[in-house]
Amino acid sequence: MHEFTITKLILSIVLQKAQEVKARKITKVDLQIGRLTGYVPECIQLQFDVLSHDTAAAGANLSFHQPPVKLHCRYCNRDYTSDSFDLTCPECHTLEIDILSGSELYVESMEAE
Ligand SMILES: [Zn+2]
Repeated sequence: MHEFTITKLILSIVLQKAQEVKARKITKVDLQIGRLTGYVPECIQLQFDVLSHDTAAAGANLSFHQPPVKLHCRYCNRDYTSDSFDLTCPECHTLEIDILSGSELYVESMEAE
């Protein structure tokens, strides 16, 4: 249930934005959620539906985008992507790595009326 806190944060961001542009209803929210954050999109949507009840964001459709996981090996200086939970360098198999992308989490855009 650790999606609760982050969903509350997402909701407060979009509600504030809606207030700024004087929108009455938020219809869609685009989110970038890197796989490495460990957040489950379905859980965020579920929490969002509950939390947004009686707000301008009620019924908003959340759209999740997962940027590719890009990593950099400090050992052999190689950049690579990972599609699995194995993040080790395919070349030298160390975990001496930097995460270039895949751990982002932010509201990319939203539609309101
Ligand atoms: Zn390497």
